[in-house]
Amino acid sequence: AKKHEGNTFVHYNKTLATEMNRIFEVKTALQQADFDRDFTLHYQPVVDVKTDQVVGAEALLRFENDTLGRVSPGEFIPIAEDYGLILPIGEWVLKQACSTMREVVEMTEGMFKMAVNVSIQQLENSHFPLVLKTILEETAFPKDHLILEVTEETSVSHSARVKETINQIEALGVGVSIDDFGTGYSSLEKLHKLKVNQLKIDQSFIRDLDQTKAIVHAILAMGKSLGLSVVAEGVETKEQRDFLKATTCDYVQGYYFSRPIPFKDFQAYVIQKQSS
Ligand code: C2E
Ligand code: CA
Ligand code: CA
Ligand code: CA
Repeated sequence: AKKHEGNTFVHYNKTLATEMNRIFEVKTALQQADFDRDFTLHYQPVVDVKTDQVVGAEALLRFENDTLGRVSPGEFIPIAEDYGLILPIGEWVLKQACSTMREVVEMTEGMFKMAVNVSIQQLENSHFPLVLKTILEETAFPKDHLILEVTEETSVSHSARVKETINQIEALGVGVSIDDFGTGYSSLEKLHKLKVNQLKIDQSFIRDLDQTKAIVHAILAMGKSLGLSVVAEGVETKEQRDFLKATTCDYVQGYYFSRPIPFKDFQAYVIQKQSS
């Protein structure tokens, strides 16, 4: 038994060392990144569940370099956040998304919204509203067509600074969506105080609909009572889409419609949907 324990101990240390080494490698790669070469944005269509029309897109960041190959955002975003690298990266994402998507907004006349994810460090930074305003001006992106996605955890955190930034974003005319909704602990009262426009039901609830239909109905009711639009993400099957279509859910997003794709492919997708 003792020998076994010893092995476990050695194994644990090895794993920890490997993990720390990987974090170091990713951190170094991010620090040395040439943003325009190593980062790209992919876009996932957001669909009106009642009409099947493409009404928006979520921009999702991709990172790839010669040494590490592709690294998923699930891995590199938390590392960028931990090592103070998310501010320049987040700024690049906003600039890139706004300048690229402007023509789609113009092409679709009216209702198209582009969603961009922002991290808590961006919202805690008092310069963020000015940075955002400047990017909107420089790219001539119509601000009422932009939505910033902040996670539920971030948005209801007790930081007064975060709340203030969210209010300033709203005052600019940019929308705010609460991402991964249902995974945190926000009460109706806290949500009511935040001036947000949209809830995004976390994909875990859509994945296990057999067990979570009642919760999804409750989230929809909560969203509607606050006058918010509601998006369901992670929709992979027709059954999930059909269920949501029969509810008060407004928008859906997921592999059933499309994976996140490069801009050119997204543009082709929108054109093809418009003409069909
Ligand atoms: P998220 O904002 O919750 O984004 C949704 C994730 O679900 C994306 O993963 C998307 O590719 C994936 N997804 C979409 N549809 C489906 C589906 O039908 N089934 C399944 N299983 N997954 C689906 P991705 O692109 O790997 O991004 C992971 C997370 O990384 C994002 O979660 C977001 O928190 C973060 N992230 C990505 N881009 C950015 C960014 O530009 N800035 C910041 N701060 N975070 C980002
Ligand atoms: Ca998101
Ligand atoms: Ca999400
Ligand atoms: Ca998430």
